[in-house]
Amino acid sequence: MLIDFHTHCFPDKIYEKAIQKLQAASGNMEIYSDGSLSGLKNSMKENGVDISVVLNIATNAHQQKSVNDFAASINNGKDIFSFGSVFPGSDDVLDELERIKALGMKGVKFHPDYQGFEIDDPVMKPIYKKVSQLGLIAVFHAGFDYGFPPPYKAMPKAMARAASWIDSPVVAAHWGGINCGDDVLKYLCGGNLYFDLSFGYCMMPKIYAKRIIEKHGIEKLLFGTDNPWHNARLEMRLLTSLGLEKYEMDSITHQNAMKLLGINHPKNSLK
Ligand SMILES: [Zn+2]
Repeated sequence: MLIDFHTHCFPDKIYEKAIQKLQAASGNMEIYSDGSLSGLKNSMKENGVDISVVLNIATNAHQQKSVNDFAASINNGKDIFSFGSVFPGSDDVLDELERIKALGMKGVKFHPDYQGFEIDDPVMKPIYKKVSQLGLIAVFHAGFDYGFPPPYKAMPKAMARAASWIDSPVVAAHWGGINCGDDVLKYLCGGNLYFDLSFGYCMMPKIYAKRIIEKHGIEKLLFGTDNPWHNARLEMRLLTSLGLEKYEMDSITHQNAMKLLGINHPKNSLK
């Protein structure tokens, strides 16, 4: 079984525009699906992915509710586990976190660069406290983001500080931080948080990938792609180049994610 812990898709009405905008900001990065839910599902089928975690991001206060309504509408607990999003500057952020929980979603995604906050700003503490109380999984974008100039708002040292304020599971995306191998090793490896391994192919040098896995521990790593920006076939190229044992691959590709998402029976997936 293969669980992809980091994917994106957009509502049918806006996916084309959303993808165009993101592509333009990133320097016309190639896409591996069209950004729609059906595009994601096709990509899953073609690349052997059984379950995708869809990460949604509210980039302003006004959008928050509709982003979460969309997230809830596609969250079926079978092949799609969709996470909610809150915009930290909005007045009703704590209520919206409760709504995300009540809608049955298992986590929230934060993207400090898109949402304009420093990950370890103490003003975030009440939000992180609420996330902890609700037991929501907190996924953070981590490291560089090609849609923005530096300085970046979720670098490893700051990530470690923020994670220490959250009692529920924390996931630092992209191997702990895009282009941050040394600082991931220094500040995050061995810590009490997960890394998703998305957007690693051709980005995470193999030598760092090996060191990070060795130092962080196999039980806190989650396979991911960042679809539509990468897909499972690409990420598997990196992963299978690392010479891991079968039990290590099983942990990364599905066992750790099953535990985290509370999936007890492989039959929950459509296989
Ligand atoms: Zn992403």
